[in-house]
Amino acid sequence: MKSVIKYSVDSSCNLCGICEKICPSDTIKIKDNKVVWQKDANCYYCFACFNACPNQSILIDDRYTDKKGRYIHPGISIKDLISQK
Ligand code: SF4
Ligand code: SF4
Repeated sequence: MKSVIKYSVDSSCNLCGICEKICPSDTIKIKDNKVVWQKDANCYYCFACFNACPNQSILIDDRYTDKKGRYIHPGISIKDLISQK
């Protein structure tokens, strides 16, 4: 199923690559210095990308914007999440 959610990245993105590494469906690729959600990939809607971005750069539709908070369980590191892909 193709993603019906519109993801975008604001100017605070520093291309750190965490979203690409953490995405369990390999939907996100960094190409030509841009974060791209591939249209033919199967996003699981886990929102790991949104919550793990260290700069809160990822926006989802008009529901999850820079005004909303992000959450990562304090007992799990970003490194742990990436290693469990
Ligand atoms: S995790 Fe955030 S700052 Fe890093 S590349 Fe992705 S959108 Fe940009
Ligand atoms: S919501 Fe989950 S599966 Fe979809 S792009 Fe973000 S990290 Fe990948």
